[in-house]
Amino acid sequence: MTIKYVSTRGNAPTLSFEDAVLAGLASDGGLYVPESIPAFTMAEIAGMQAMSYPELAFTIISRFTEGSIEPEALERMIADAYATFRHDAVAPLKQLDVHTFLLELFHGPTLAFKDFALQFLGRLLDHILTKRGQKAVIVGATSGDTGSAAISGCSGRDNIEIFILHPQGRVSEVQRRQMTSVLDKNVHNIALKGTFDDCQDMVKTLFSDHDFRDKYKLTAVNSINWARIMAQVVYYFYAALALGAPAKRISFSVPTGNFGDIYAGVIAGRLGLPIDQLIIATNRNDILTRCLNTGTYGMEGVTASLSPSMDIQISSNFERLLFDLYGRDGKQINDMMTRFRSEKKLTLTPGVWEKLKGQFAASAISDEDTKATIASIYQSTGELLDPHSAVGVAAGHRARRDTGTPLVVLATAHPAKFPDAVKAACHIHPPLPEHMKDLFERQERFDVLDNDVDTMKRYISERV
Ligand SMILES: *Cc1c(COP(=O)(O)O)cnc(C)c1O
Repeated sequence: MTIKYVSTRGNAPTLSFEDAVLAGLASDGGLYVPESIPAFTMAEIAGMQAMSYPELAFTIISRFTEGSIEPEALERMIADAYATFRHDAVAPLKQLDVHTFLLELFHGPTLAFKDFALQFLGRLLDHILTKRGQKAVIVGATSGDTGSAAISGCSGRDNIEIFILHPQGRVSEVQRRQMTSVLDKNVHNIALKGTFDDCQDMVKTLFSDHDFRDKYKLTAVNSINWARIMAQVVYYFYAALALGAPAKRISFSVPTGNFGDIYAGVIAGRLGLPIDQLIIATNRNDILTRCLNTGTYGMEGVTASLSPSMDIQISSNFERLLFDLYGRDGKQINDMMTRFRSEKKLTLTPGVWEKLKGQFAASAISDEDTKATIASIYQSTGELLDPHSAVGVAAGHRARRDTGTPLVVLATAHPAKFPDAVKAACHIHPPLPEHMKDLFERQERFDVLDNDVDTMKRYISERV
């Protein structure tokens, strides 16, 4: 069965898998979702128990790519993508107490879970472009993690030039060096004289210039790309199977910013995985927790926290969930999103709010509690948590309704990526893993550019 992809705003063409991946955002401003999701039977899920991570990834991903990507090519891309991880299990589970498990998603090349999607997406894009005899230019803005994972996934790919903008002097040194020490010809790092918002505005301006966008085939790899969500579904199955699914129900606590990672959990459930609770773990930038508690999705300013990769104002992938909750009525989502843009808030209908509360629990964790969690888990188990994973543990323990159900907390980053927060919490400086020990001696390459659109366009056109 070949799945088609439709926009959440109901006013863009229905696309094949490949076209949806290349498009990223839909032309009506919506996000692409599968027209239907073919669930696995319980017997099929039970049959996945002995699979290795790449075998499981192939079984799940091929549901979404059937009729589009040839099975042999898919198998090779998956094998290559997950061979870059430094742990044989790819996504190992570590037990913290009787019913709490950490799913370590930080063994990829850049030490954060975004490698799961971007190691695969870089190869997938290159494959689709090769087939079509096309080239593409990826342009993205980063406050840290996405940029390094995207660069790592795309470096050295034949048909891709990648330009990543970071705010000059405003990303951590580990994060900057992970990006700027990649010296492949197709990688272009730009330190923009401005803030992260300036970087994002610059990227938006480039994409909204349709002549420029079409001439250079600009492509986005941010978390609105369906292929990223799809790749992240796999580790929900992997963890649950290891803990006794499908005979047992499992709960997940997910450190959440843009709602991409936890939305992959929603899709895992639709595919038939018996999930007990999905817990939205946020820091003080808590638009989702407030929405669940009040029924109003309202924008407030962003404040910096100890878990910077979750410092967001809105959660773009939440639109995908709203599309489902409102009966997949694209016109209604389009109206709601237009109103949201002008009024900065939207109020859910009572029925939808009830459905939302039935599907999720949520908890917002302060910096103080984040540090306290890092310290107490270190004391009781010897494990060092990064601040994002600590938010996940704290929220999971607060929001679970049943302490007897296994709780899997997604550990989204390696502690060495956020050494200052870890040190402030428990006075230990988390060391970089062996393969990165020389990060601070590696040669860097980047250009510093003014926050000016014409300068940026010239820079890109001279290099493509
Ligand atoms: C991106 C990121 C998150 C948030 O994930 P979303 O998919 O945006 O919800 C959490 N933790 C870390 C370390 C991240 O890099």
